[in-house]
Amino acid sequence: MIIVIKPNTSREQVEEVMVEVQKLGYDPRPIFGTEQTVIAAIGDERTHHTLESLNAMPQVEKVLPVQKRHKLVSRESHPGDTVVNVDGVKIGGANPFCLMAGPCSVESEEQLLTTAHAVKAAGATILRGGAFKPRTSPYEFQGLGKEGLRLLALAKKETGLKIITEVLSERHVDEVAASCDILQIGARNAQNFQLLIECARTGKPILLKRGLSEKIEEWLLGAEYLLAHGNGNVMFCERGIRTFETYTRNTLDLAAVAVAKKESHLPVIVDPSQGCGRADLVRALCKGAVAMAADGLLIEVHPHPAEALSDGQQQLDFAGFAALVKDLQPLLAAMGRTVA
Ligand code: PEP
Ligand code: MN
Repeated sequence: MIIVIKPNTSREQVEEVMVEVQKLGYDPRPIFGTEQTVIAAIGDERTHHTLESLNAMPQVEKVLPVQKRHKLVSRESHPGDTVVNVDGVKIGGANPFCLMAGPCSVESEEQLLTTAHAVKAAGATILRGGAFKPRTSPYEFQGLGKEGLRLLALAKKETGLKIITEVLSERHVDEVAASCDILQIGARNAQNFQLLIECARTGKPILLKRGLSEKIEEWLLGAEYLLAHGNGNVMFCERGIRTFETYTRNTLDLAAVAVAKKESHLPVIVDPSQGCGRADLVRALCKGAVAMAADGLLIEVHPHPAEALSDGQQQLDFAGFAALVKDLQPLLAAMGRTVA
């Protein structure tokens, strides 16, 4: 860390700061300038105490970190792309672009199985579907819970598709892990650190959505929790953030995809469905995601979107999904990617 001292500070006052730096476990190296002095604090700031508390000293102007806080997630720690192996389906690196698709919520056996067959026929390798749903109102459909997990397991057995579903609570982690292949941590839980730790413990691949108002650094640090707790099978998912805009449900932040790809070695998935909340825009956002070098898409598909128990306005029907996948082919080819 670098500690910038205020102009016209006496040597004694600089030494006072150096004593504090030493107490916090760093080696202080002062650089006396004609106008201003800075102290370089040598030590590993990712494992040592933070020096930000030194801002409390009146002679300190500011404290600047030098190292990144997301050490395991950073590209510096792992220059190559991480490939996440989802029960045989590989995501990231030079592997095929991954299509995850299915209904927002698991509603019935017929709804889930017909959707599973349709998305598989169009090229998806992973079936999505919420069994436990995070709904804004307690009066809205909350998901089928355990019955939803049973139906997802059935769909896997019938189609061979891998399963992704959301874990809402620490109480459900083991149950969800037993019947699915990827644990989805939703936007509302993106910084529920105890849930993150419990999910990491299962060793299962994890898809970490970006929080509704989460800064990219916080998102990277959420993934750092998972890696620091021994689970390296992590994927980021950009799903739109909350802004002042109301034409779209959220503002899909494609720049965050580019940042995550640059800062981190983990695969990045884009969810255009929550990202804009409008079925008519999903295709355009998918194209953007492919162009930003995302590793896959998470798309909501429903047999009859108008009858969906959640998020009907943003779900594609089967024909819409098949047409979308076809439409993406030339773009994927231009990016050097194939679909499984
Ligand atoms: C979902 O995927 O249906 C969902 C609820 O996602 P998010 O957590 O991104 O809102
Ligand atoms: Mn949804």
